[in-house]
Amino acid sequence: MALIRRLARAARRQLWPPVEPALVTAGREGEVTAAQARIALAILLSASPLVTLYQNPHASQALLVLPLVPLFVAVGFWTLWLAKREPYPDWASYAGSFVDVTVISAYQAMLFLNGMAFMALGSRVTFTLYVFVIIGTGLRYDPRLAVTTGVLSAIQWMAVIIWANATGLGITAVESGRFYPTTRLGGQFEELVVLAASTVLALMIVGRSREIRLSSVLDGLTRLLNKSHFEERFALELERSIRHGRPLALAILDLDRFKAINDTMGHPAGDAVIFEAADRLRKKVRRTDLVARLGGDEFAVVLPETLPAEAVAKVEELCAAIGGTPIEVEQIAVTITCSAGVASTPMDGASVSLLVTSADNRLLDAKRRGRNRVIADSLSPEAPPQPSLAR
Ligand code: GH3
Ligand code: MG
Repeated sequence: MALIRRLARAARRQLWPPVEPALVTAGREGEVTAAQARIALAILLSASPLVTLYQNPHASQALLVLPLVPLFVAVGFWTLWLAKREPYPDWASYAGSFVDVTVISAYQAMLFLNGMAFMALGSRVTFTLYVFVIIGTGLRYDPRLAVTTGVLSAIQWMAVIIWANATGLGITAVESGRFYPTTRLGGQFEELVVLAASTVLALMIVGRSREIRLSSVLDGLTRLLNKSHFEERFALELERSIRHGRPLALAILDLDRFKAINDTMGHPAGDAVIFEAADRLRKKVRRTDLVARLGGDEFAVVLPETLPAEAVAKVEELCAAIGGTPIEVEQIAVTITCSAGVASTPMDGASVSLLVTSADNRLLDAKRRGRNRVIADSLSPEAPPQPSLAR
Protein backbone atom coordinates (compact mmCIF):
# COMPACT_ATOMS: atom_id res chain seq x y z
CA MET A 1 0.00 0.00 0.00
CA ALA A 2 2.80 2.38 0.99
CA LEU A 3 4.66 1.43 -2.19
CA ILE A 4 1.61 2.21 -4.35
CA ARG A 5 1.21 5.54 -2.59
CA ARG A 6 4.90 6.35 -3.14
CA LEU A 7 4.69 5.38 -6.82
CA ALA A 8 1.53 7.48 -7.27
CA ARG A 9 3.29 10.44 -5.64
CA ALA A 10 6.36 10.00 -7.88
CA ALA A 11 4.16 9.73 -11.00
CA ARG A 12 2.27 12.86 -10.00
CA ARG A 13 5.52 14.75 -9.43
CA GLN A 14 6.70 13.72 -12.90
CA LEU A 15 3.45 14.45 -14.72
CA TRP A 16 2.30 17.39 -12.61
CA PRO A 17 5.49 18.88 -11.16
CA PRO A 18 5.03 21.56 -8.49
CA VAL A 19 6.62 24.94 -9.16
CA GLU A 20 10.15 25.15 -7.72
CA PRO A 21 10.09 27.47 -4.68
CA ALA A 22 12.87 29.49 -6.36
CA LEU A 23 10.37 30.36 -9.11
CA VAL A 24 7.44 31.36 -6.91
CA THR A 25 8.56 35.01 -6.68
CA ALA A 26 9.22 35.08 -10.43
CA GLY A 27 5.76 33.58 -11.02
CA ARG A 28 4.19 36.31 -8.94
CA GLU A 29 6.07 38.95 -10.97
CA GLY A 30 4.74 37.19 -14.08
CA GLU A 31 1.23 37.40 -12.64
CA VAL A 32 1.62 41.17 -12.23
CA THR A 33 2.75 41.40 -15.89
CA ALA A 34 -0.19 39.22 -16.97
CA ALA A 35 -2.61 41.47 -15.05
CA GLN A 36 -1.15 44.58 -16.74
CA ALA A 37 -1.36 42.78 -20.11
CA ARG A 38 -5.09 42.13 -19.51
CA ILE A 39 -5.70 45.84 -18.95
CA ALA A 40 -3.62 46.81 -22.02
CA LEU A 41 -5.39 44.16 -24.12
CA ALA A 42 -8.79 45.47 -23.04
CA ILE A 43 -7.86 48.97 -24.17
CA LEU A 44 -6.59 47.65 -27.51
CA LEU A 45 -9.78 45.62 -27.82
CA SER A 46 -11.85 48.80 -27.74
CA ALA A 47 -10.00 50.00 -30.88
CA SER A 48 -11.02 46.92 -32.89
CA PRO A 49 -14.72 47.82 -33.51
CA LEU A 50 -13.75 51.42 -34.33
CA VAL A 51 -11.47 50.18 -37.13
CA THR A 52 -14.23 47.85 -38.40
CA LEU A 53 -16.77 50.70 -38.32
CA TYR A 54 -14.37 52.99 -40.17
CA GLN A 55 -14.05 50.37 -42.91
CA ASN A 56 -17.75 49.53 -42.94
CA PRO A 57 -20.11 52.06 -41.29
CA HIS A 58 -22.96 49.50 -41.36
CA ALA A 59 -21.11 46.89 -39.32
CA SER A 60 -22.59 48.05 -36.01
CA GLN A 61 -22.41 44.46 -34.71
CA ALA A 62 -18.68 45.04 -34.28
CA LEU A 63 -19.54 47.23 -31.27
CA LEU A 64 -20.75 44.11 -29.46
CA VAL A 65 -17.15 43.38 -28.49
CA LEU A 66 -17.14 46.52 -26.28
CA PRO A 67 -18.68 44.88 -23.15
CA LEU A 68 -15.53 42.74 -22.99
CA VAL A 69 -13.42 45.85 -22.34
CA PRO A 70 -14.68 46.69 -18.81
CA LEU A 71 -14.81 42.97 -17.98
CA PHE A 72 -11.13 42.44 -18.82
CA VAL A 73 -10.15 45.69 -17.08
CA ALA A 74 -11.98 44.43 -13.96
CA VAL A 75 -10.28 40.99 -14.15
CA GLY A 76 -6.95 42.79 -14.69
CA PHE A 77 -7.29 44.90 -11.53
CA TRP A 78 -8.59 41.94 -9.51
CA THR A 79 -5.61 39.74 -10.49
CA LEU A 80 -3.22 42.65 -9.88
CA TRP A 81 -4.63 42.94 -6.36
CA LEU A 82 -4.33 39.15 -5.86
CA ALA A 83 -0.70 39.14 -7.09
CA LYS A 84 0.24 41.79 -4.54
CA ARG A 85 -1.50 40.06 -1.66
CA GLU A 86 0.48 38.69 1.24
CA PRO A 87 0.79 35.72 1.36
CA TYR A 88 0.41 35.14 -2.37
CA PRO A 89 -2.43 32.62 -2.77
CA ASP A 90 -1.42 29.48 -4.75
CA TRP A 91 -4.68 29.55 -6.64
CA ALA A 92 -4.39 33.18 -7.81
CA SER A 93 -3.00 32.53 -11.29
CA TYR A 94 -5.47 29.65 -11.81
CA ALA A 95 -8.38 31.85 -10.77
CA GLY A 96 -7.24 34.64 -13.14
CA SER A 97 -6.95 32.30 -16.13
CA PHE A 98 -10.24 30.56 -15.28
CA VAL A 99 -12.09 33.90 -15.18
CA ASP A 100 -10.42 35.03 -18.45
CA VAL A 101 -11.47 31.89 -20.33
CA THR A 102 -14.96 31.90 -18.83
CA VAL A 103 -15.53 35.56 -19.73
CA ILE A 104 -14.65 34.77 -23.37
CA SER A 105 -16.88 31.66 -23.44
CA ALA A 106 -19.78 33.47 -21.75
CA TYR A 107 -19.40 36.24 -24.31
CA GLN A 108 -19.51 33.67 -27.16
CA ALA A 109 -22.65 32.14 -25.64
CA MET A 110 -24.19 35.62 -25.37
CA LEU A 111 -23.55 36.17 -29.10
CA PHE A 112 -25.31 32.90 -29.96
CA LEU A 113 -28.23 33.77 -27.67
CA ASN A 114 -28.64 37.15 -29.36
CA GLY A 115 -28.74 35.68 -32.85
CA MET A 116 -25.13 36.68 -33.60
CA ALA A 117 -23.88 33.17 -34.29
CA PHE A 118 -22.06 34.41 -37.39
CA MET A 119 -20.03 36.72 -35.15
CA ALA A 120 -19.36 34.03 -32.52
CA LEU A 121 -18.07 31.72 -35.20
CA GLY A 122 -16.52 34.24 -37.55
CA SER A 123 -14.96 36.96 -35.39
CA ARG A 124 -11.25 36.36 -35.25
CA VAL A 125 -10.88 38.93 -32.45
CA THR A 126 -13.07 36.98 -30.02
CA PHE A 127 -11.50 33.60 -30.69
CA THR A 128 -7.97 35.03 -30.60
CA LEU A 129 -8.62 36.10 -27.00
CA TYR A 130 -8.43 32.41 -25.98
CA VAL A 131 -5.02 32.26 -27.68
CA PHE A 132 -3.83 35.39 -25.83
CA VAL A 133 -4.92 33.97 -22.49
CA ILE A 134 -3.18 30.62 -23.13
CA ILE A 135 0.07 32.19 -24.32
CA GLY A 136 -0.10 34.66 -21.40
CA THR A 137 0.28 31.70 -19.01
CA GLY A 138 3.86 31.48 -20.34
CA LEU A 139 4.65 34.42 -18.03
CA ARG A 140 3.86 32.39 -14.91
CA TYR A 141 6.68 29.73 -14.89
CA ASP A 142 4.08 27.04 -14.24
CA PRO A 143 3.52 24.37 -16.94
CA ARG A 144 0.44 23.14 -15.07
CA LEU A 145 -1.24 26.50 -15.56
CA ALA A 146 -0.55 26.44 -19.33
CA VAL A 147 -2.05 22.95 -19.69
CA THR A 148 -5.06 23.73 -17.47
CA THR A 149 -5.84 26.92 -19.39
CA GLY A 150 -5.44 25.23 -22.80
CA VAL A 151 -7.68 22.31 -21.83
CA LEU A 152 -10.25 24.62 -20.21
CA SER A 153 -10.39 26.82 -23.33
CA ALA A 154 -10.93 23.79 -25.59
CA ILE A 155 -13.63 22.35 -23.30
CA GLN A 156 -15.52 25.63 -22.89
CA TRP A 157 -15.25 26.55 -26.57
CA MET A 158 -16.53 23.12 -27.67
CA ALA A 159 -19.23 23.19 -24.99
CA VAL A 160 -20.56 26.48 -26.39
CA ILE A 161 -20.47 25.09 -29.96
CA ILE A 162 -22.21 21.83 -28.99
CA TRP A 163 -24.81 23.74 -26.98
CA ALA A 164 -25.48 26.17 -29.88
CA ASN A 165 -25.70 23.22 -32.27
CA ALA A 166 -28.11 21.32 -30.04
CA THR A 167 -30.39 24.32 -29.52
CA GLY A 168 -30.33 25.42 -33.15
CA LEU A 169 -28.93 28.82 -32.17
CA GLY A 170 -26.08 28.48 -34.64
CA ILE A 171 -28.16 28.06 -37.80
CA THR A 172 -27.99 31.77 -38.64
CA ALA A 173 -24.23 31.48 -38.94
CA VAL A 174 -24.59 30.13 -42.44
CA GLU A 175 -27.11 32.74 -43.53
CA SER A 176 -25.94 35.89 -41.83
CA GLY A 177 -22.30 35.96 -42.78
CA ARG A 178 -22.46 39.54 -44.01
CA PHE A 179 -19.58 41.23 -42.22
CA TYR A 180 -17.73 38.07 -41.28
CA PRO A 181 -16.67 35.19 -43.51
CA THR A 182 -19.47 32.61 -43.61
CA THR A 183 -18.63 29.87 -41.14
CA ARG A 184 -19.92 26.38 -40.72
CA LEU A 185 -21.20 25.35 -37.31
CA GLY A 186 -19.68 22.05 -36.22
CA GLY A 187 -16.50 22.51 -38.27
CA GLN A 188 -14.40 23.84 -35.40
CA PHE A 189 -11.57 21.31 -35.66
CA GLU A 190 -9.15 24.00 -36.89
CA GLU A 191 -9.84 26.12 -33.80
CA LEU A 192 -9.06 23.18 -31.54
CA VAL A 193 -5.74 22.75 -33.37
CA VAL A 194 -4.99 26.45 -32.79
CA LEU A 195 -5.77 26.08 -29.04
CA ALA A 196 -3.54 22.98 -28.80
CA ALA A 197 -0.72 24.74 -30.68
CA SER A 198 -1.03 27.78 -28.37
CA THR A 199 -0.79 25.48 -25.33
CA VAL A 200 2.34 23.83 -26.72
CA LEU A 201 3.84 27.25 -27.44
CA ALA A 202 3.02 28.41 -23.88
CA LEU A 203 4.68 25.25 -22.49
CA MET A 204 7.79 25.93 -24.57
CA ILE A 205 7.92 29.53 -23.30
CA VAL A 206 7.51 28.28 -19.71
CA GLY A 207 10.26 25.66 -20.21
CA ARG A 208 12.76 28.12 -21.67
CA SER A 209 12.06 30.95 -19.24
CA ARG A 210 12.20 28.53 -16.28
CA GLU A 211 15.62 27.30 -17.35
CA ILE A 212 16.96 30.82 -17.78
CA ARG A 213 15.48 31.99 -14.50
CA LEU A 214 16.71 28.95 -12.56
CA SER A 215 20.25 29.32 -13.87
CA SER A 216 20.26 32.88 -12.53
CA VAL A 217 18.99 31.98 -9.05
CA LEU A 218 20.53 28.55 -8.35
CA ASP A 219 24.11 27.54 -7.64
CA GLY A 220 25.50 25.55 -10.58
CA LEU A 221 27.06 22.71 -8.55
CA THR A 222 24.46 22.08 -5.85
CA ARG A 223 21.25 23.56 -7.34
CA LEU A 224 20.67 25.28 -3.98
CA LEU A 225 19.86 29.02 -4.03
CA ASN A 226 22.87 31.12 -4.97
CA LYS A 227 24.13 33.87 -2.68
CA SER A 228 22.54 36.86 -4.41
CA HIS A 229 19.10 35.26 -4.77
CA PHE A 230 19.31 33.98 -1.21
CA GLU A 231 19.91 37.53 0.07
CA GLU A 232 16.85 38.72 -1.82
CA ARG A 233 14.62 35.92 -0.51
CA PHE A 234 16.00 36.18 3.01
CA ALA A 235 15.18 39.91 3.11
CA LEU A 236 11.59 39.16 2.00
CA GLU A 237 11.22 36.35 4.52
CA LEU A 238 12.59 38.53 7.32
CA GLU A 239 10.27 41.39 6.41
CA ARG A 240 7.32 38.97 6.48
CA SER A 241 8.29 37.52 9.86
CA ILE A 242 8.71 40.99 11.39
CA ARG A 243 5.37 42.13 9.99
CA HIS A 244 3.59 39.13 11.50
CA GLY A 245 5.61 39.16 14.72
CA ARG A 246 6.84 35.60 14.13
CA PRO A 247 10.27 34.20 15.03
CA LEU A 248 12.86 33.39 12.37
CA ALA A 249 16.32 31.86 12.57
CA LEU A 250 19.35 32.03 10.31
CA ALA A 251 22.10 29.39 10.37
CA ILE A 252 25.41 29.58 8.56
CA LEU A 253 27.10 26.18 8.19
CA ASP A 254 30.63 25.45 7.03
CA LEU A 255 32.23 22.05 6.41
CA ASP A 256 35.16 21.31 8.70
CA ARG A 257 38.65 20.89 7.24
CA PHE A 258 37.23 20.60 3.78
CA LYS A 259 40.48 21.74 2.16
CA ALA A 260 42.03 18.43 3.23
CA ILE A 261 39.63 16.58 0.90
CA ASN A 262 40.57 18.82 -2.02
CA ASP A 263 44.25 18.42 -1.22
CA THR A 264 44.26 14.64 -0.74
CA MET A 265 41.57 13.49 -3.17
CA GLY A 266 41.40 16.27 -5.73
CA HIS A 267 38.95 19.02 -6.61
CA PRO A 268 36.32 16.77 -8.31
CA ALA A 269 36.11 14.67 -5.12
CA GLY A 270 35.69 17.92 -3.15
CA ASP A 271 32.88 18.89 -5.51
CA ALA A 272 31.19 15.53 -4.91
CA VAL A 273 31.33 16.08 -1.13
CA ILE A 274 29.85 19.60 -1.46
CA PHE A 275 27.12 18.22 -3.73
CA GLU A 276 26.22 15.42 -1.29
CA ALA A 277 26.28 17.73 1.74
CA ALA A 278 23.93 20.11 -0.11
CA ASP A 279 21.64 17.25 -1.00
CA ARG A 280 21.46 16.09 2.61
CA LEU A 281 20.60 19.63 3.70
CA ARG A 282 17.91 19.98 1.05
CA LYS A 283 16.27 16.71 2.09
CA LYS A 284 16.15 17.71 5.75
CA VAL A 285 14.45 21.11 5.52
CA ARG A 286 10.82 22.09 5.09
CA ARG A 287 9.53 23.43 1.78
CA THR A 288 9.20 26.87 3.35
CA ASP A 289 12.82 26.99 4.60
CA LEU A 290 15.52 28.58 2.46
CA VAL A 291 18.79 26.74 1.79
CA ALA A 292 21.62 28.37 -0.09
CA ARG A 293 25.25 27.81 -0.95
CA LEU A 294 27.02 31.02 -0.02
CA GLY A 295 30.21 29.87 -1.72
CA GLY A 296 32.94 27.22 -1.28
CA ASP A 297 31.89 24.85 1.52
CA GLU A 298 29.62 27.38 3.24
CA PHE A 299 25.81 27.11 3.36
CA ALA A 300 23.00 29.20 4.81
CA VAL A 301 19.63 28.03 6.08
CA VAL A 302 16.71 30.30 6.98
CA LEU A 303 14.08 28.75 9.23
CA PRO A 304 10.92 30.85 9.31
CA GLU A 305 8.48 30.48 12.22
CA THR A 306 11.15 28.73 14.29
CA LEU A 307 11.96 29.58 17.89
CA PRO A 308 15.66 29.81 18.88
CA ALA A 309 15.68 26.48 20.77
CA GLU A 310 13.93 24.70 17.90
CA ALA A 311 16.40 26.27 15.47
CA VAL A 312 19.40 24.93 17.39
CA ALA A 313 17.87 21.44 17.47
CA LYS A 314 17.15 21.65 13.73
CA VAL A 315 20.66 22.83 12.84
CA GLU A 316 22.18 20.09 14.99
CA GLU A 317 20.01 17.67 13.04
CA LEU A 318 21.28 19.17 9.76
CA CYS A 319 24.91 18.82 10.85
CA ALA A 320 24.21 15.25 11.95
CA ALA A 321 22.73 14.53 8.52
CA ILE A 322 25.90 15.83 6.84
CA GLY A 323 28.29 14.04 9.17
CA GLY A 324 26.19 11.07 10.31
CA THR A 325 27.01 8.71 7.46
CA PRO A 326 30.20 8.78 5.40
CA ILE A 327 30.00 10.22 1.89
CA GLU A 328 31.06 7.75 -0.76
CA VAL A 329 33.47 9.40 -3.20
CA GLU A 330 35.37 7.36 -5.78
CA GLN A 331 34.65 4.26 -3.65
CA ILE A 332 36.18 5.91 -0.60
CA ALA A 333 34.06 6.67 2.45
CA VAL A 334 34.67 10.27 3.48
CA THR A 335 33.47 11.40 6.88
CA ILE A 336 33.02 15.13 7.24
CA THR A 337 31.57 17.26 9.99
CA CYS A 338 30.31 20.78 9.97
CA SER A 339 30.18 23.79 12.25
CA ALA A 340 27.34 26.28 12.41
CA GLY A 341 26.41 29.63 13.86
CA VAL A 342 22.76 30.42 14.53
CA ALA A 343 21.12 33.83 14.93
CA SER A 344 17.46 34.47 15.70
CA THR A 345 14.97 37.31 15.57
CA PRO A 346 14.19 39.36 17.52
CA MET A 347 17.04 39.01 20.05
CA ASP A 348 19.92 39.15 17.56
CA GLY A 349 18.43 42.03 15.59
CA ALA A 350 15.84 42.56 12.92
CA SER A 351 17.94 43.21 9.85
CA VAL A 352 19.67 40.93 7.35
CA SER A 353 23.09 42.37 8.14
CA LEU A 354 22.71 42.04 11.94
CA LEU A 355 21.58 38.42 11.68
CA VAL A 356 24.31 37.52 9.18
CA THR A 357 26.97 39.15 11.37
CA SER A 358 25.77 37.29 14.49
CA ALA A 359 25.56 33.92 12.70
CA ASP A 360 28.97 34.49 11.08
CA ASN A 361 30.64 35.41 14.37
CA ARG A 362 29.16 32.32 16.04
CA LEU A 363 30.36 30.15 13.18
CA LEU A 364 33.88 31.55 13.70
CA ASP A 365 33.48 30.88 17.39
CA ALA A 366 32.47 27.27 16.62
CA LYS A 367 35.58 26.85 14.47
CA ARG A 368 37.78 28.36 17.19
CA ARG A 369 36.33 26.07 19.84
CA GLY A 370 37.28 22.96 17.91
CA ARG A 371 34.66 22.65 15.12
CA ASN A 372 31.84 20.06 14.77
CA ARG A 373 29.38 22.11 16.83
CA VAL A 374 26.48 24.51 16.64
CA ILE A 375 26.66 27.82 18.48
CA ALA A 376 23.62 29.98 18.98
CA ASP A 377 24.92 32.32 21.70
CA SER A 378 28.09 33.11 23.60
CA LEU A 379 27.55 30.24 26.04
CA SER A 380 28.29 27.05 24.11
CA PRO A 381 29.13 23.50 25.17
CA GLU A 382 32.61 22.02 25.14
CA ALA A 383 34.15 20.57 21.99
CA PRO A 384 33.16 17.05 20.86
CA PRO A 385 35.78 14.79 19.17
CA GLN A 386 37.62 16.17 16.11
CA PRO A 387 36.34 15.27 12.61
CA SER A 388 38.23 12.60 10.67
CA LEU A 389 38.84 11.76 7.04
CA ALA A 390 38.20 8.01 7.00
CA ARG A 391 39.38 5.91 4.07
P1 GH3 B 1 37.51 25.08 8.24
O1 GH3 B 1 37.25 23.89 9.06
O2 GH3 B 1 38.17 26.16 9.04
O3 GH3 B 1 36.30 25.56 7.52
O4 GH3 B 1 38.57 24.63 7.16
P2 GH3 B 1 38.36 24.34 5.63
O5 GH3 B 1 39.50 23.47 5.23
O6 GH3 B 1 37.02 23.83 5.38
O7 GH3 B 1 38.59 25.75 5.02
P3 GH3 B 1 37.60 26.80 4.40
O8 GH3 B 1 36.21 26.51 4.76
O9 GH3 B 1 38.12 28.14 4.73
O10 GH3 B 1 37.86 26.60 2.86
C1 GH3 B 1 37.01 26.03 1.96
C2 GH3 B 1 37.79 25.58 0.76
O11 GH3 B 1 36.89 25.14 -0.25
C3 GH3 B 1 38.58 26.67 0.09
C4 GH3 B 1 38.55 26.31 -1.38
O12 GH3 B 1 39.78 25.81 -1.81
C5 GH3 B 1 37.56 25.21 -1.47
N1 GH3 B 1 36.53 25.44 -2.46
C6 GH3 B 1 35.83 26.57 -2.70
N2 GH3 B 1 34.93 26.38 -3.68
C7 GH3 B 1 35.05 25.07 -4.08
C8 GH3 B 1 34.41 24.27 -5.05
O13 GH3 B 1 33.50 24.71 -5.77
N3 GH3 B 1 34.79 22.99 -5.17
C9 GH3 B 1 35.80 22.45 -4.40
N4 GH3 B 1 36.13 21.18 -4.57
N5 GH3 B 1 36.44 23.19 -3.46
C10 GH3 B 1 36.08 24.49 -3.30
MG1 MG C 1 35.26 24.86 5.75
